[in-house]
Amino acid sequence: MTMSNKNIIALIYDFDGTLSPLPMQEYTVLPELGIKPADFWSDVGKEVQATGGEDIITYMRMMYERAEEKKVHIDRDKLKAMAPMVPYFEGVEDWFASMNDYIKKRSNDKIETRHYIISSGLREILEGVSIYKEFHNIFASEYFFDHHGRATYPNRVITDTTKTQYLFRINKGVEDLTKSINSHMPMKDRPIPFENMIYYGDGLTDVPSMAVTRANGGHSVAVYTPGKSEKPCQTLFKEKRCDFFAPADYSKGSDLHRRTLLILDKIIASILLQKELDTLG
Ligand SMILES: [Mg+2]
Repeated sequence: MTMSNKNIIALIYDFDGTLSPLPMQEYTVLPELGIKPADFWSDVGKEVQATGGEDIITYMRMMYERAEEKKVHIDRDKLKAMAPMVPYFEGVEDWFASMNDYIKKRSNDKIETRHYIISSGLREILEGVSIYKEFHNIFASEYFFDHHGRATYPNRVITDTTKTQYLFRINKGVEDLTKSINSHMPMKDRPIPFENMIYYGDGLTDVPSMAVTRANGGHSVAVYTPGKSEKPCQTLFKEKRCDFFAPADYSKGSDLHRRTLLILDKIIASILLQKELDTLG
C-alpha cells in the first residue's frame, strides 16, 4: 500500500460525557432496577476499595448482581430496547452527516470519513441507539449471556487504558476482535495513520487515548457539558493532552464544530499534498 491509499479520516468518540451527558446506565439499567445512580456508583466505589477490584469489572458484576436481587431479567434484547432512553448533546444527530459532507466536498470526494466509538459502557446498549448506523464500528464493554440469555459475566472489558488497543486496531485495520493486534506492521502498511485521527473525550478517563493519539501525530479534543465547569478540560489543554477544548455542542457554527473543521482542513491538506507528491514517483 502506498501513501496515496491512506485516504480515510477517522473521527473517534468516547460516549458517556462526550456524545451523551451521563453514563448510559443512568438512563437505562439503573432506572429499570429502581436504583438511584448516585447510590449505585457510591456502592461500586466502596466495593472497589474493599476488594481492590478494577472499576469497570466491578460495576459490571454489581449490575447483574443487583438485577438478580431485584429479580429483573436483563438480556441482550432488553439492553438494546432501553437504548432509546439515552439522550445526546445538542447537534449530535446531525454532526456525522455534516462532517461526512464537509470532508467529501473539501477533498473533491477523494477522502472517506469513518466514525468510531470506543466506550467503557455497554455494547448491547450502544447497538440500540438511534445514531448506531453512523458508525463504522463500535468498541465497548460487553456482557457474557448464559444459556438462559441472562447477563452473568463480563465478556469484554474496556477500561481507560485498554481503550488505546482499539486505536491501534483502527490504525492497523485489524478490527476483527478475534485477531491479535500485537504483530508488527510497518507504518506504511497501516490503513489509517494516527495523523488522520481525531479522538473526542470528556475527561481524565480519556487521557490514555488522548496521549497515545497525540504522541503518534494525531489530534484529540476535550469536551465539557455546556453550563458546567470548563476547568477539567482547561487542565487537559494546559497539559497538552488535547488540541483544543469546547462545550459539547455539536451544532453547526459551535466552537466544537468550527474548530473541528480547522483541524480537518489541516488533515485534508496534508493527505492531498501527499497524494500530489506521490505522482512525482
Ligand atoms: Mg466519558
